Amino acid sequence: MSKIIYADNAATTSLSKHAYEAMTPYLISEYGNPSSIYSVGRTAKKAIESARGKVASAIGAKPEEIYFTACGTESDNWAIKSVAELKKSKGKHIISTAIEHHAVVHTLQKLEKQGFDVTYLGVNENGNISLDELRAAIRPDTILITIMTANNEIGTIMPIAEIGDIAREAGVLFHTDAVQAAGHIPLNVVDMKIDLLSLSGHKFKGPKGTGALYIKKGVRLPSNMQGGAQERGLRSGTENVAGIVGLATALEESVSNMQENMKKVTALRDRLIDGILKIPYTRLTGDLVNRLPGTASFVFECVEGESMVLLLDQNGICASSGSACSSGSLDPSHVLMAIGLPHEVAHGSLRLSLGEDNSEEDIDIILEKLPQIISRLRDMSPLWEERISEEKI
Ligand code: PLP
Repeated sequence: MSKIIYADNAATTSLSKHAYEAMTPYLISEYGNPSSIYSVGRTAKKAIESARGKVASAIGAKPEEIYFTACGTESDNWAIKSVAELKKSKGKHIISTAIEHHAVVHTLQKLEKQGFDVTYLGVNENGNISLDELRAAIRPDTILITIMTANNEIGTIMPIAEIGDIAREAGVLFHTDAVQAAGHIPLNVVDMKIDLLSLSGHKFKGPKGTGALYIKKGVRLPSNMQGGAQERGLRSGTENVAGIVGLATALEESVSNMQENMKKVTALRDRLIDGILKIPYTRLTGDLVNRLPGTASFVFECVEGESMVLLLDQNGICASSGSACSSGSLDPSHVLMAIGLPHEVAHGSLRLSLGEDNSEEDIDIILEKLPQIISRLRDMSPLWEERISEEKI
């Protein structure tokens, strides 16, 4: 097979060459334990502190507000469970949305089993919440608002600064899962009045198994892991020095190239969207304007998402479907259900997520192959025959 077209950057990204080069010494020669007081240890410690400074400046935070974790999932768990622990004497009500990632949803479900009450704000057909509904949902016992910065399936970007205003005015802590947004769109925790923010290295060309949590100064979260004094005693465990260096290098690089990347990737995405929408009985999912630069997501009537993904793969194209039965369930994702898609339409979802390494040629190939794949699948579908005969009546 010829070249692979990787159009699944929302799932993970390739490692940046700079990040790889920056990480290598800490895997080989500079292997000291950052807690050791001799010089190899101090070198590793210095690398972590320099990385902390880079991550902080990428999101407008102070270095001492950044804590390194092992992934976005850990950051989400830490933020939500620790606020619940910290504030449970004040109240047990949390506000979130119906389209959060499982790292948030399953954490909230666990808290519900422990007696917390969660309001899941609904979204409209583009994946947007209503700010009036958010205001109305706040109660005297509300302790946390946790709303993602951008959705991983449909790419809709939430009005984070407005949510931050509402939360701050109400005196409620605001956490955002910025795993899909960090490194891709501008973020500033001060301007956006964010108290807690989760990010993950592998979504912006950093290494997998790395993450960070921003905790605003003054928010005294309980520790996430008990043990040694690493991460100021809040997240014990010998640090993943190379991973931390890789995450920070990749984030710094993404932020410094952000304007250029956004422009390039948005143009590719829009060309892809225009081309794909020419396929009959196809809909774009997610917000038309406020969407992640790289995310193009669709539903195709009378087509199975998984079949599309497999046939794209046979053609060297990597993409994903929100209707994939990853959890062993054949149900379409909660996100596609929340935007109001009928079950049978949600089954035909496809997400193509682009990055700066994609080219015009990649788009040409996708636009050549995908319509052929859809026609082939529809020709085999009894639903398609019914659908077009309905149209003829
Ligand atoms: N939150 C969102 C929005 C995501 O898209 C993901 C990963 O897909 C996560 C959290 C989990 O991040 P990680 O893979 O680093 O655990």
